[in-house]
Amino acid sequence: MTGRQFDIAIAGGGLSGGLIAAALARYRPELRVVLVEAGETLGGGHRASWFASDLSPQGVELLRPFRKTEWDHGYDVDFPAWRRTLATPCRSLSSDEFDAALHRQLPDDAIRIRRPIAALDGAGMTLADGERIAARTVIDCRGFTPSPHLKGGWRVFMGRHLRTVRPHGIARPTVMDAAVEQHGTCRFVHVLPLAAHELLVEESYYADTPTPDRSLLSRRIDAYCAARGWQGDILGGEAGVLPVVTGGDFAAHQAAQRVEDVAIAGARGGFAHPLTGASLPLAVETALLVAAEGDLPGVQLSALLETRARLHWRRTRFYRRLARVLFGSARPDQRWGVFARIYRLPEGLVERFHASRSTHADRARMLCGGPWMRAMAGWTGGGAALAERAAA
Ligand SMILES: Cc1cc2nc3c(=O)[nH]c(=O)nc-3n(C[C@H](O)[C@H](O)[C@H](O)COP(=O)(O)OP(=O)(O)OC[C@H]3O[C@@H](n4cnc5c(N)ncnc54)[C@H](O)[C@@H]3O)c2cc1C
Repeated sequence: MTGRQFDIAIAGGGLSGGLIAAALARYRPELRVVLVEAGETLGGGHRASWFASDLSPQGVELLRPFRKTEWDHGYDVDFPAWRRTLATPCRSLSSDEFDAALHRQLPDDAIRIRRPIAALDGAGMTLADGERIAARTVIDCRGFTPSPHLKGGWRVFMGRHLRTVRPHGIARPTVMDAAVEQHGTCRFVHVLPLAAHELLVEESYYADTPTPDRSLLSRRIDAYCAARGWQGDILGGEAGVLPVVTGGDFAAHQAAQRVEDVAIAGARGGFAHPLTGASLPLAVETALLVAAEGDLPGVQLSALLETRARLHWRRTRFYRRLARVLFGSARPDQRWGVFARIYRLPEGLVERFHASRSTHADRARMLCGGPWMRAMAGWTGGGAALAERAAA
């Protein structure tokens, strides 16, 4: 190496940065890679779940060394007048396991935690304490940043990890229980049976502002658990917000984020599902791509990922139109109808929806038979600039 410390420096050890580091360690072990994270641990402090159908065989292989909870017998969805069990297997990874697996897979000197980055450029990064890390290629995975060029709202979460006094008897995840009072928004509860005595119960709703009312969410989780007789010790929890992008000028957003010759990945680069906010499947795909192109200099990797992000933006236009319904429907108590319509349809279509791979035929089926949804999907309101929302 000529005058530089690393081949690749990754800024941010969340889902996307961590998976890129894992893919490079596995497929390009000869490259010198460093993963720099401001926080105490890698993985962002919350669980990430996905469907087995989201990942390619290579993606499954990349996640093999991570200890996951796996449910091979599908999942439930609940709506006010009906419930359904879908057969697609589900997977879930806690941030503790994510952190532990990365420490097992990466050389010790490849992980730097508690190291906030002050600035990035095409030749490296400068840490807040003044240290300079020089690299041939820099990848920015520091998470989503709002910009005035994107419109939308937020998905607000709070989850509680509970050890129940008695076995809860739940065999599979409930991905969406929308048969709960909606409180003027699209609200649902997500339940993961992590072990015979362990549950993750997560409240989630779509909101115009990204500020979770923690005590309200906590009371709602209390009430949900009490109604089902789930009592026990609280082992932990998680909370957060995710952007739900309903529209905007993506090229202008990219230009606003761009740092010359620095590649951008993860939620910051636009790699998330516009309606659900989930990003693990896209983070896995990006990690595999970066490993395959591990010799590219920053200028070329940056162009490659920007092009991928623009393609993803074009392919997901339909989901942004659906997302507008979640913020703009005239009947707030019926916004769950967007998801009800999707979960009524054949399983293959639902799988492609989750993986952001809906076909033209899928989109037509989601719209037909739901006249109010068809009308709302063409509606152009739904969301203000995300930067304004973040500042609210
Ligand atoms: C509560 C919750 C539950 C979720 N559940 C799921 C799920 O089940 N499935 C799914 O697919 N998605 C889920 N998501 C969404 C998913 O977690 C995010 O889309 C994903 O974390 C985005 O990954 P990322 O790497 O781009 O950003 P992040 O995971 O946010 O990582 C960014 C990292 O960069 C670090 N960082 C930021 N600035 C600096 C700096 N200056 N210096 C150094 N480090 C810095 C941060 O500390 C952070 O660790 C959930 C999100 C939340 C909040």
